[in-house]
Amino acid sequence: MPAFAEETIMKLIDPILQFHEELKQIRRTIHAHPELAYEEVRTADLVAATLEGWGIPVIRGLGKTGVVGVIRNGSSPRALGLRADMDALPLQEHNSFAHKSQQDGKMHACGHDGHTAMLLGAAHYLAKHRNFDGTVYVIFQPAEEGGGGAKAMMDDGLFEQCPMEAVFGMHNWPGMKAGCMGVVAGPMMASSNEFELTIKGKGSHAAQPHISIDPIMAAVQIAQSWQTIVSRNTSPIDAAVLSVTQIHAGSATNIVPDSASMIGTVRTFTLPVLDMIERRMREIASHTAAAFGAEIEFSFKRNYPPLINHDPETEFARSVMKDIVGSEGVVANVEPTMGSEDFAYMLLEKPGCYVFIGNGDGTHRSAGHGLGPCNLHNPSYDFNDDLLPIGASYWVTLAEQFLARAPLRPEPAI
Ligand SMILES: [Zn+2]
Ligand SMILES: [Zn+2]
Repeated sequence: MPAFAEETIMKLIDPILQFHEELKQIRRTIHAHPELAYEEVRTADLVAATLEGWGIPVIRGLGKTGVVGVIRNGSSPRALGLRADMDALPLQEHNSFAHKSQQDGKMHACGHDGHTAMLLGAAHYLAKHRNFDGTVYVIFQPAEEGGGGAKAMMDDGLFEQCPMEAVFGMHNWPGMKAGCMGVVAGPMMASSNEFELTIKGKGSHAAQPHISIDPIMAAVQIAQSWQTIVSRNTSPIDAAVLSVTQIHAGSATNIVPDSASMIGTVRTFTLPVLDMIERRMREIASHTAAAFGAEIEFSFKRNYPPLINHDPETEFARSVMKDIVGSEGVVANVEPTMGSEDFAYMLLEKPGCYVFIGNGDGTHRSAGHGLGPCNLHNPSYDFNDDLLPIGASYWVTLAEQFLARAPLRPEPAI
């Protein structure tokens, strides 16, 4: 039993605790062999073979490398989905411990190795003990890191092939104490969007600026004015981020360039705020450029939608957390984050809830870890193996209680 904060009283499932060492080995094997979005061939093979080895039928090919395990019991038509992600990041690992990445430039720096192992731990228990009536779909998705693997699985018929009442997700959260879990109803993670602006002016010798239309001046004005969208156009009650992250123009000290470009990201928790920001960015850019006599090309690409937890499922998830980590371990209204997550797509189609599980402060890391902090997307990060039985116990308890209780909604989705 791992050591946690003394005040945290946990009720973990004993056979899962007995299986901790095996889960740790699985997690470390996945960590050592990271694969990027839609390339999770080895990982998907490992997941599928492991599930099949435990007598769980699998569906493959949804979202290219996605894997779904189907665990049925009894005669009830009711069903729910539990989802983990499998992909790694294009990052050079700084850790040198035994399970460090064997692939140059690729690393499990977001803990998806741990998410996969926790869900496998739950699948192992559910298949062995079958204390439920209905179907539990364990969903292992590809390409969370920018590739929209959740949506790819849905586009390939995930919810048609696997009809379910609700779907649940989980992410480790560095900085939150290990042994704690957190959730909030409503928006929990932001929408992620990117923009690109090209300003077309007129080049000249830098000693003759009066015959140019200087795109750099227009770019600077636009970048400044865009900052008023969050401070002047967005309600103080709403949150939003508008960051210009690249400005490119020019090639010499004595040339006024004929064009300039700006790239960046916008994050919001709601679609109306997003609509407003996109509209105001376009207005400010085109009118400011016009004032300089320049022209623009502006593109705005919407990536992941905001992740919005549904009320009844959040209340239910919170009560399951209490059963696992005790009320002292539950962060009942965790602070939302401006990070984004493609599980948001699933929550647009199905009721459900996404939660955080504390990954601790990094002191769990084996000797040989890098000098950086144990934060997500950091080359010195490592998933905390102490969480494996906590996450797996949460999944099992959630599935068993969900199928045992009355439906959370008067007319379930299936
Ligand atoms: Zn990530
Ligand atoms: Zn992640």
